[in-house]
Amino acid sequence: HEPKGPRPIKKLSKDVINQIAAAEIIHRPANAIKELLENSLDAGSTSIKITVKEGGLKLLQIADNGHGINKSDLPLLCTRYATSKLSKFSDLERLQTYGFRGEALASVSYCSHVEVVTKTRDDGCGWKAHYQDGVLVPSKPGLTPDPRPTAANDGTVISAEDLFYNNALRKRAFKSPSEEYNRILDVITKYAVHNPHCAWVCKKAGTALPDISTPAASTSRANISLLYGATLANELLELPKTTLDPIERLGARCEGLVSNANSNWARKGGWLLFINHRLVDSSRIKKAVDSLYTAFLPKGASPWVYLSLEIDPSKVDVNVSPTKSEVHFLNEDEMIEAIVAVVQTALAGANVSRSFTVQT
Ligand code: ADP
Ligand code: MG
Repeated sequence: HEPKGPRPIKKLSKDVINQIAAAEIIHRPANAIKELLENSLDAGSTSIKITVKEGGLKLLQIADNGHGINKSDLPLLCTRYATSKLSKFSDLERLQTYGFRGEALASVSYCSHVEVVTKTRDDGCGWKAHYQDGVLVPSKPGLTPDPRPTAANDGTVISAEDLFYNNALRKRAFKSPSEEYNRILDVITKYAVHNPHCAWVCKKAGTALPDISTPAASTSRANISLLYGATLANELLELPKTTLDPIERLGARCEGLVSNANSNWARKGGWLLFINHRLVDSSRIKKAVDSLYTAFLPKGASPWVYLSLEIDPSKVDVNVSPTKSEVHFLNEDEMIEAIVAVVQTALAGANVSRSFTVQT
């Protein structure tokens, strides 16, 4: 029997702390792929190729043509809170990158076996390294953990194998690899619509035909046509480019494509919301825009909406945990009103001609 009364307080070890943090950041393969593709975009990539085995639980591999990683940075690469993107707290107010916390690769290395192959433009060869629980490890017993020279293209290939191999409870929670694969496709699809400058490929390992394939230097509408179908792409209304006064006054710009008031597609609906290029949720923006459509759409139908909102970074709180996708910003009420007004203008513009043709 334990003696009654309080037990002594002890500090958790660094490894336990990091493992808990990793489990909070990487719930499932789709979280890991979002972090990895954001790193590739931060590295200036114009081509991102993703290969997946067993819904990402066996293998997630992402190959980019970005600026690569300096060999001298490889020992720190998977260390928690090690980043090339932020050095002081006030940098958050002018953040231009997705990443800043230096937690993603660390987390992935605490829940999978990570291999990195990277080459910068200035380096004569590439470097291959393996990681476990934040640190470099040998690829085979008996070898040193040092990165090894290897043939490589400019850019970075990161492979995460056996996701959650050390977390039986989490691993058992995934019943269907195909459901996990669909979540991965969903994340990549949305980033491909928002980042059409980059070519995107995603496929299952061992299959010839990719499930996602978009060309470089494309457009959002062309990618929507490839990924969601031409019917939807052709009927989407472009939001007026000129920012409405309230939005401008709030230091924000809004762009996007929305389904029209008679959309067939509207039955299924869909939402792609990017704030400062991050894929986020705002139940308040959704609700406000959805309710604008209820006047037009049949009961139970919902619109398809792609919105890209750029707000002065000093007015959005980006310093939220990576998985907390619901965001808030200053002057939220005014901003939402202004967004609804922009969408309404787009819908009205389309409706004028429609009702005109109906009446004559
Ligand atoms: P963060 O993105 O918050 O900085 P990460 O753990 O995601 O933290 O990445 C750590 C660092 O590794 C990044 O700051 C970046 O310097 C480097 N890095 C990660 N992925 C890539 C990549 N695909 N290409 C080039 N550098 C990368
Ligand atoms: Mg990152």
